[in-house]
Amino acid sequence: IPTSRVDKLLSSMGYGSRKEVARLARAGAITLDAAALLDVTGRIPVTPDLPTRMTIDGEALDPLPGMVILLNKPLGMTCSHKEDGALVYDLLPERWKRRDPAISTIGRLDKQTSGLLLLTDDGDLLHRVISPRRCIRKTYRARLARPLDGSEAELFASGDLILQGEDKPLAPAELDVISDTEALLSITEGRYHQVRRMFAASGNHVEELHRERLGGLSLPDGMAPGQWKLLNEEEIALIF
Ligand code: URA
Repeated sequence: IPTSRVDKLLSSMGYGSRKEVARLARAGAITLDAAALLDVTGRIPVTPDLPTRMTIDGEALDPLPGMVILLNKPLGMTCSHKEDGALVYDLLPERWKRRDPAISTIGRLDKQTSGLLLLTDDGDLLHRVISPRRCIRKTYRARLARPLDGSEAELFASGDLILQGEDKPLAPAELDVISDTEALLSITEGRYHQVRRMFAASGNHVEELHRERLGGLSLPDGMAPGQWKLLNEEEIALIF
């Protein structure tokens, strides 16, 4: 079990500089096992139960490093700091913006795409999920501008569809038709605007796009846009 200096750990979790954490401790604002922790220069074992044993200003300690967040991304928010508009990170507690390692999205959804989005501060996990070698299946529900013409499923499954401006064909993808103008599309890659460009290649246009599933995960029933939850170990395992 790894150990850490308390001031260093709390500082890396966004609670302030080491100086500020020491000040909090002197003021009696940090407790461990219900007793005030006055000296934060010592080391403690960083066990998974620490958030249930430590409080800061009367509140449970934030999740330790190694978290995975499942978010129902609303329309109109961006995943990238380089784009304009509100960021998905604004939906999380303010302090989490100051964490190191930082929390980032696992892949991206377009500003005008809603649905299942994962975020993590675990770089290894991030790379395992987005690695093309793993072929993790992502399922999108698309609403289309024009009726499907019946040729799309075969085109997408062929493994030889080449998108505008690319030279490597797309891996086979599966289309499940819901209605004339609505379908589920499951892909295992994550190329730029992939789903929109696939339907464009079939002569159609995506008007609404929502990610429903990633690996074995789906959005919990009743999770409204903008809501999120932390995943436990079993749920994280469902990704792969
Ligand atoms: N494909 C897209 O076109 N957009 C997304 O946000 C995700 C997949």
